[in-house]
Amino acid sequence: MTTSQSILKNTFGYDTFRPLQREVIENVMARRDTLAVMPTGGGKSLCYQIPSLMFDGLTVVVSPLIALMKDQVEQLRAFGVPALFLNSSLSPQEYQENMDYVKRGEVKLLYVAPETLLTPRITSLLSALKVDLFTIDEAHCISEWGHDFRPEYRQLVEVRKRFPKAACLALTATATPRVRTDIRSTLHFTTTNEFVASFNRENLYIEVAPKRDAMKQTIQFLDRFKDQSGIIYCFSRRQVDELAAHLASKGYSVRPYHAGLDDAERRRNQEAFIRDDAQIIVATIAFGMGINKPNVRFVIHYDLPKSVEGYYQEIGRAGRDGLPAHCLLLYSYADVAKLNYFIEQKQGEEQRVAMQHLNAIVKYAEDEFNCRRKPLLTYFGESFPADNCSNCDNCTSAPAALTDITIPAQKFLSCVKRTGERFGAVHVADVLLGSMNEKVVKFGHDKVSTHGIGKELNQKQWTRLARQLAQTGYLNQDGEYRTLSLTQKAMDALKNRTKIFGVIEEVRERKSKAEKRTELEYNNALFSLLRTKRKEMADEMGVPPYVVFSDKTLVEMAAYYPQSPASLLTISGVGQVKARQYGEAFLEVIKSYCEKHRIVEKRKESI
Ligand code: ADP
Ligand code: ZN
Repeated sequence: MTTSQSILKNTFGYDTFRPLQREVIENVMARRDTLAVMPTGGGKSLCYQIPSLMFDGLTVVVSPLIALMKDQVEQLRAFGVPALFLNSSLSPQEYQENMDYVKRGEVKLLYVAPETLLTPRITSLLSALKVDLFTIDEAHCISEWGHDFRPEYRQLVEVRKRFPKAACLALTATATPRVRTDIRSTLHFTTTNEFVASFNRENLYIEVAPKRDAMKQTIQFLDRFKDQSGIIYCFSRRQVDELAAHLASKGYSVRPYHAGLDDAERRRNQEAFIRDDAQIIVATIAFGMGINKPNVRFVIHYDLPKSVEGYYQEIGRAGRDGLPAHCLLLYSYADVAKLNYFIEQKQGEEQRVAMQHLNAIVKYAEDEFNCRRKPLLTYFGESFPADNCSNCDNCTSAPAALTDITIPAQKFLSCVKRTGERFGAVHVADVLLGSMNEKVVKFGHDKVSTHGIGKELNQKQWTRLARQLAQTGYLNQDGEYRTLSLTQKAMDALKNRTKIFGVIEEVRERKSKAEKRTELEYNNALFSLLRTKRKEMADEMGVPPYVVFSDKTLVEMAAYYPQSPASLLTISGVGQVKARQYGEAFLEVIKSYCEKHRIVEKRKESI
């Protein structure tokens, strides 16, 4: 008997289901309407791909992302799944051919764009067939409350009515309850079978670093990720162009991407990235929707993102294959000021919302003590129970020893008071350092008693201290200039000479012990040979390399050295069809490498 488990193994080559996949599949197979909410990379596709192979009839997938359909279909065909798509990117002739395949019942899985589904041509095609499952991908497009409402999605319910026997599966990565209810009611779900997976992406290492010399920091970072794919997000088109040009001049394999480039160039650059012809894409946030590349190993935010949601979505593009990936945000106060400036140009409600978003991301970035995952997941209405995730900078850095910082703290707090509680941390630090700059002189702050009493620390140490004092409740920080004022707690501390504890070092020492957790040890040289082989085959077939095999598959090959077709099948991502089609070529690479280096196969326990 074919079970979902056996299809998972034999067709897709995976041993275990990701969280909730099995439950969703069982529910769909029982022909119950189902809503599944999973984060990007959570594995939504298998939730309908596996049922499509188990039902007698056809599975129809509605998706707004035309650009992704081709990619999905290519991946499926590589696994031996008879899938096709119908959308406006096909020539009339290709379209007709695909229609004919469907008519003859040679297709199990059909991808269509919503506007195509509503044409008489398709409705009449489908009414002549048995449709067992309707899948609505990106189902949040149905909801006016979602961030990407598409009116044509509303009409899907009409199409549904014509196939009363087909089950409906709605998929989305948008988790707000409002949108969820909207999806279920718009689609007339009779039951409320809803599955919501955790949005915690365990394989992402999350780091925020103070932005000092962004270019230098980026290059140092890139040098740790030689030959690996990654995205660098910048705030502006100009910044994208500059950074891309600079990296190119240093010999990096890099392409720019933003809305100012013409369509053809944008497409070319995206394609180069997807096909591993270019290692790095430097982009504005225009890049990413409709990118399915599973082996993105890092995402750098060169500038501060505008909101926590946006940030989480952008880092979510890393590590879809489940392998470790690194997300670095470079944070500076200058960026906050820049975003503030843009927000000031807005008005009313829009301005208010933008300001809220900015405050939330600033709070997140400035937190140097709590696990990064906590605020991120709280934002999505989920709680993260553990204290330590051991995969973010705050959880893996050694907790710096707290020392008595009473004296510098008192100096700082008094200086805030003496300067009238109307300035930000940088100005207060300037006064403490005895600066005679224009602003200090203009406000007469060279005359206050705290002027020049803090030369034992530098500017950065003072601003860091200010941040700690704000975080521990001694200072309020308000408004667009992040003006500092004393809290009652600070007044009491000054009056009673209470001891204050904190950290003074400029940069806390970071123990990166857990950065490479539970990663499979593999042979880099062999991995590289396998990558070359993969690229060669992919180019020959005109598909992206990950259609042939994922990075995870190559990593396992380079760790277990399988030398027979049988052991190849124990490797993750190698199903029967792929083993037959590509197996020999890869076995050859492995065998010749092992012979030369006298390496024997390691057994991988298959489940
Ligand atoms: P989503 O649509 O939720 O963003 P995908 O369906 O594209 O995620 O899956 C992301 C990646 O994870 C794909 O490369 C897919 O093949 C892989 N994947 C999905 N389910 C499993 C599984 N059970 N075991 C291993 N890999 C999986
Ligand atoms: Zn953490």
